[in-house]
Amino acid sequence: MTDYRRLRVALLGAGAVGSQVAALLRQHADELADRAGARLELIGIAVRDVDAPRETDLPRELLTTDAESLIVGADIVIELMGGIEPARTHLLQAINSGADVVTANKALLATHGPEIFDAADQVGAEVYYEAAAAGAIPIIRPLRDSLAGDRVQRIMGIVNGTTNYILDRMDTEGAEFADVLADAQRLGYAEADPTADVEGYDAAQKAAILASLAFHTTVPLDAVHREGITSIDKSMMDAARHAGYVIKLLAVCERLSGGPGASGTGESISVRVYPALIDRTHPLASVHGANNAVFVQAEAAGNLMFYGAGAGGVQTASAVLGDVVSAARRHIAGGVGVGESTLANLPVVPVGRVTTRYQITLEVADQPGVLATVAGILSDGRVSIATVEQTVAGEDARTARLEIGTHKALEQDLSETVDRLAASGVVERVVSVLRVEGD
Ligand code: NAP
Repeated sequence: MTDYRRLRVALLGAGAVGSQVAALLRQHADELADRAGARLELIGIAVRDVDAPRETDLPRELLTTDAESLIVGADIVIELMGGIEPARTHLLQAINSGADVVTANKALLATHGPEIFDAADQVGAEVYYEAAAAGAIPIIRPLRDSLAGDRVQRIMGIVNGTTNYILDRMDTEGAEFADVLADAQRLGYAEADPTADVEGYDAAQKAAILASLAFHTTVPLDAVHREGITSIDKSMMDAARHAGYVIKLLAVCERLSGGPGASGTGESISVRVYPALIDRTHPLASVHGANNAVFVQAEAAGNLMFYGAGAGGVQTASAVLGDVVSAARRHIAGGVGVGESTLANLPVVPVGRVTTRYQITLEVADQPGVLATVAGILSDGRVSIATVEQTVAGEDARTARLEIGTHKALEQDLSETVDRLAASGVVERVVSVLRVEGD
């Protein structure tokens, strides 16, 4: 057996992910040593309660509630506690004491990323976070390293497994949102409080991380436009299917030309999370169940799709361990960490400045001249019609349903136009307005 140098690894957290990381570190110790060029010695695991039952068999003597003392003696610190504090304080302590750090903490990076990356830059340390954006799916390294010579134009990600599971079952089974959510909670796909998932907060954190990396720009979380999926119902699913689409919660990160406050290059970016229509032939439409996928469009590389498990303890542990091996190699080789590039510093434009296609469903009075009135309002609002179809008559035969597909329109124009349609007197109800993505 090669006599490798020893690197001391401190693990903060032994929950769903941490317990699997600890188990794999011990199970594959020899292989990991060969790959890292160092023996990774787990010196301790910080938890809240050393007596709590654990998913995997962890040596009791490694558990401690004293994270600070553990960090002091570590070469590599793996943070898998989650949340903002004390994770932030511990990561900063680890960086300042000369350790390289690995984290899967999207909430922390999306809100305090610049502070943590700056601290690492100051001391030449490196922050690894492959598991923070899409669980087991390798996407951070591809964006940071593999595509470093290219220019990313757009990322469209299904980055939240819970919402994909819900929307997929609504699409394939014709089920209602509340019923599938209750099922998802029973099966452990959704938390008892599902807000972070179904309202798009989790996806927005991941979008901020992906956009920062792809566009070499700091993207604050509050610059990410966010809408959840709670308003999606069976009739919207049916209408989408009828028109050849499927509804997915998408994180869209896009490079735009121009826009208010555009940089010297004339470019800006948009980062947004919302339920959107995707053509059923698009690769993202085939992402079923709780799976995730990130579709990247780069100037030279063209279209790339990264697909797999976006969560799960052992799956996420795979990405964490990949980071640990990278951290170990760097720790041995020495030198200054790569750091985060934010030099492009592109402005993030509000969603109102974005252009997309839309699918508008209206319930209208079933009488002559209505279509002309609707078409006139759209045209006055600079929204051009691509397709129009009267789908179903209302039960009382007094109303009809119009499905209108638009050409690309400015979001601000579209939303003002929809307000005018709603107030026009001929529209009984705006049933839904959904963006169409993936062109
Ligand atoms: P988890 O199951 O809730 O585990 C958290 C662990 O941290 C527990 O062992 C807990 O100790 C410990 N901990 C929490 N607060 C602490 C404190 N103040 N002091 C000491 N220990 C503390 O979390 P998880 O699901 O493994 O997630 C960990 C991280 O990975 C999060 O940032 C999450 O966003 C990220 N992530 C998770 C997944 C996933 O599928 N689970 C996927 C991608 C990324 P006790 O056990 O004693 O309570």
